[in-house]
Parts: sequence; C-alpha cells; structure tokens
Amino acid sequence: MQLLIKGGNLVNTEKLTIEKADVLINDGVITAISEQLPINGAEVIEAADKLVCPGLIDMHVHLREPGFEAKETIATGTRAAAMGGFTAVACMPNTNPIVDNAAVVRSILELVRAEGVVKVYPIAAITKGSKGAEITEMGDLKEAGAIALSDDGQPVSDSGVMRRGMQYAHMLGLPVISHSEDKSLAAEGAMHEGYYSTVLGLKGIPAAAEEVMVARDILLAENTGCRLHLAHISTAGSVELVRQAKRRGVKVTCEVTPHHFTLTDADVVGYNTATKVNPPLRTAADVAAVKEGLADGTIDVIATDHAPHTAEEKAVEYQYAPFGLVGLETAVGLVFTELVAPGVLTAAQAIAKLSCMPAAVLAVPGGKLAVGERADITIIDPERKEKVDPTGFASKSKNSPFVGRVLKGLPVVTMVNGKIVMKDRRLTI
Ligand SMILES: [Zn+2]
Ligand SMILES: [Zn+2]
Repeated sequence: MQLLIKGGNLVNTEKLTIEKADVLINDGVITAISEQLPINGAEVIEAADKLVCPGLIDMHVHLREPGFEAKETIATGTRAAAMGGFTAVACMPNTNPIVDNAAVVRSILELVRAEGVVKVYPIAAITKGSKGAEITEMGDLKEAGAIALSDDGQPVSDSGVMRRGMQYAHMLGLPVISHSEDKSLAAEGAMHEGYYSTVLGLKGIPAAAEEVMVARDILLAENTGCRLHLAHISTAGSVELVRQAKRRGVKVTCEVTPHHFTLTDADVVGYNTATKVNPPLRTAADVAAVKEGLADGTIDVIATDHAPHTAEEKAVEYQYAPFGLVGLETAVGLVFTELVAPGVLTAAQAIAKLSCMPAAVLAVPGGKLAVGERADITIIDPERKEKVDPTGFASKSKNSPFVGRVLKGLPVVTMVNGKIVMKDRRLTI
C-alpha cells in the first residue's frame, strides 16, 4: 500500500533544518522525498503547517511487564507511546523477574510481537537481580536482543562492580546507562533537599547524591573506555560535570526528562505525590542549568523515565509514595511548550534530541527521514493545544503532575513501519 504525506515541513535531524517536502511510503519503506510528488492513487495524509519528523524514540521507559501488570503492560505502555508520538521505546529491566537473563529478554520481545504497537528495545540489567554484586551474562543478553545495560532504579553502589560491568559492556560494544544515585547520601529522602524540604517537613535528597555518582561513573567510563549514558540528570552540578567530561573527550552522553526541565521543588508544595520522582524535582537554578545544557548540546537526549504507578499506590502520605510519574503522553507537548516556544531549542534541535540522538546512543535504527529507511514517522502539529487529562491516557496509570496544564505542540500522527497507529490524537489500532 502507498501512503503520501503531503505538504509537510520535514525535519532534517542531521542538518537541523526544516524544509517543505512530500514523503512517499511503499510497503513500510520511504521510497521518495521531493518538493512535489504526484498522488497516483496513494492514500494522502495532509501535513500542511505540520512537522514531519523521524519517528520519536524514548530511550527510558518502564513498561512494568512482567510482574507489575497493574501499573502498565506492554500492550498499554506501547499504546501510551503511540499516543505520545513515539515509534520506539527502550524499556528498563526493573521488572519482576528482573531482565537479567536471556530468557526474560526473549519473553519480552515475544510479548512485544504479540501485543506491542510500537518498537521496543529491551535494556538488560548490569548485575544479577540488580543487586549490585554479580555481573550478568552480558553476551547472552546481547544475543537475545538487549541493546544496553542498566540497573535503573538501583544504583550500582560498589565501584569495583560498576567498573567490571563497564569493562564487559565495552568488550560487547553495549552502552551502560547509569542511574546515578548515592544511596547513603539520598538517605531515604522524599524530595530535593533545600528550602522547600524544610518548609514542608520532608526528608531531603541533596544534589550531591546524584553528582558524586555522575562524577564516579564519568571517571570509570574514562578508565574503561566504555560508552556511558547518564539517565535523568537533574542538577546544575551534573550538567557541569558532563560538560567538562565531554571537553576531555570522555565517551559520555546524558538525558534529561520533561519534568526536570518543567517543574521545580516548589511544585511539591501541596504534597501531590505525582511530583515524587527519583531524582527529585530540583530548584529553579537547576532547571535553568538544565535548559542551558540542552541548548549548548551538553544534554544529548530528552527521555521521559515513564514510571507508572497505580492510584492506590500513590494515594498515601508523601514520604511513603513510590517514586515516578507517567511521561509518554505529555512529553512532546512539554518539549514544545517549555523549550521550543520560549526559544531554548529550535524545533529541529528538539526533534533531534527525541530521535536521532537516542538512536545513536542505543545504536538502533531510525532517527532520520531518507529514501530506503523504514517509515517510522511522527507528525507534530505545533499549533495544536490540549489540556492534560489523564482520564484519557492510554497508559494504565494516571500519575501525572501536569493535570489541567494546557500544552501547545502535539503529535497528531504516529506511524510505525508505514502503519498508522495514532491519528488525530486517537489510536487507530
Ligand atoms: Zn533511574
Ligand atoms: Zn527509570
């Protein structure tokens, strides 16, 4: 079947330019890109005044299956991704069982084939059970389909274990994704340690809990030659550490989440447990530093850390609530509202951080629109507005701190391998 995306503004993620062009898709592959293409019986998708982007890739999500299906499943999580404009996601291994052996990787990929609506790349654990003691069989995990290694949710506290993990990962050519947190400094805090934690009477997590591990992992990456990707950095100090490391030529990349460039610790006032995330929401100065890091290229990737939890789990006192918020369905709107509209990033720069950059970090296909590429395409309407209403989320969980916020700039088509899975803000599958 032929599809023709007509009159759209094509985002070129290599040159960071935007140019008007038609895109022809044949059997799931892009077969022509030109200023004017004839319709010739193709099904037409009108894209005038819209951004035609390489399919967005979220390299940090928690799909919760196997083990926590009350929060999310591969079926619902990939639908939430499609609603959010993502054609692919990488899923973290802190499921039950933990993704620490090849059989679990294979079972996830099987479920994805049966029930997934976007592409899913499994991330496997660095250590068995993510317990931080014994390295996993990384070769087996890679062979089964794992594209990166991470003990997300659990920092690898033992530096010797982390170094060994990086050495093996380096031999296999897999990146290590670090959840940078020193547990002894975080000390079971519930929010950022500062003015608001004092005012609210909540135990704080200091910025240093993140920064000492960011520094350690950068040094270990330098020592081992391993490709290191720092998940969800959130402090001005972390941004500066990455900036300096990149100047020295360390193979380090990093990501920031939409909530960390949108919200601050002041948003915890009122004790809404949807604002309880790890790392915690930081200060206005940290948000400013994160935006600067995005603009100057220190921060490579925007990823959601989509972390669904049931309403029951979150309906407890702030200090007892689990960490995490759902991010897939609000990410593009927040990127356009908070970064593109105020001029922190151009639309093309923002799309690059949501497509070709994560593809490069994970060494997976996608991230550019070109003849011969698979037709993974996201179309964004930069003018479209919507009020965030979690009751309409495709995700099983609704733990969003953005309820009621009006976002401008939303995905209107998600296409995976030439198949439309979301159109006009509705799932089509
Ligand atoms: Zn994490
Ligand atoms: Zn995470």
